[in-house]
Amino acid sequence: MQIRFEPSPVLKPKPDVSKVRFGTQFTDYMFAMDFDRQNGWHDPRIEPYAPLMLSPANSTLHYGQAIFEGMKAYRQKDGSYAIFRPKDHLERLNNSARILDIPELPLDVVHEGLRKLITLDRDWIPTEHGQSLYIRPFVFANDPYVGVSVGDQYKFLIILSPVAAYYAHGFAPVKIMVEDTYVRAVRGGLGEAKTPANYAASLHAGMVAHDKGYDQTLWLDGVERKYIEEVGSMNILFKINGEVVTPALNGSILNGVTKRTVLQVAKKWGVPTSERRISIDEVIAAYEDGSLEEVFGSGTAAVISPVGVLAYKGKEYVINGGKVGEFSQKMFDYIEGLHYGDVKDEFGFIEVIGKY
Ligand SMILES: *Cc1c(COP(=O)(O)O)cnc(C)c1O
Repeated sequence: MQIRFEPSPVLKPKPDVSKVRFGTQFTDYMFAMDFDRQNGWHDPRIEPYAPLMLSPANSTLHYGQAIFEGMKAYRQKDGSYAIFRPKDHLERLNNSARILDIPELPLDVVHEGLRKLITLDRDWIPTEHGQSLYIRPFVFANDPYVGVSVGDQYKFLIILSPVAAYYAHGFAPVKIMVEDTYVRAVRGGLGEAKTPANYAASLHAGMVAHDKGYDQTLWLDGVERKYIEEVGSMNILFKINGEVVTPALNGSILNGVTKRTVLQVAKKWGVPTSERRISIDEVIAAYEDGSLEEVFGSGTAAVISPVGVLAYKGKEYVINGGKVGEFSQKMFDYIEGLHYGDVKDEFGFIEVIGKY
């Protein structure tokens, strides 16, 4: 499939990224592609970033058949620009597509379109350490039809947004509330898909947690409210007695690329890891007997997010004296080193797109 290019008559001025709020500024171009039952995925193109025309009956607005991804492009130390694990993100996009009965994307076309888009907008990749260009691919049903059914028309877009350093004021541990009232996803549901529905299900609980002074919620399983799942937009990992433990995939949590990165790097370092079922009671018991060394979240946005406080059933547990753990810090530095080319990439995680 040939990727069409529609040049923009004007290019926008670039913002001061250090002052930009996450996800509010967008580059000059976007990648787009459409699907209908007759033509399949067709007309891949790069066109100026612009508002969309949608039918008020647009099926996604009413029933939410949509999926997305989130990855990042970085400027490397050697003057090249690169994306972190793009193929893993695109494969997960198609996994989400299968879960929501969205027609799978031709990943070779999407991958080529992504590379072309990043190359065109390469001057938007910020220059400072910690900053990056956030890449948001997404698909939504685009039928002008208010009726509950799998769509016949879809739109795929990739938009790009320059983002400031997540930890502009230093690496700060977050306070997390273990949620035992609300649930986000259940096994057999949509938890393993990156889909807006999971976020819609989390907003109210997130607001309640905020009102109580917590940054995020840690979800427990939707049936027994006993086993650890994940944090809103991050996976969760525990360092217990020298071992890195994280919940195994069970259909209701997202298969995080950053979490997989952490596990792979830990293995390389000789740190034992395990993906298994872990209950909140086990975490509290490890806290009580002193074997809970560190707790941290992992995700593309923050990379590593150390947890300073866990609150459960009205009690606060201060992790590692509320300070950033040694392992969390070392892992964060290492993965950031890969992002910016300060650390040699032995894993093949970095895909170089081009050089300035
Ligand atoms: C995106 C996301 C994550 C983090 O995944 P990464 O691939 O590491 O960015 C974790 N949980 C949920 C619910 C997510 O949407």
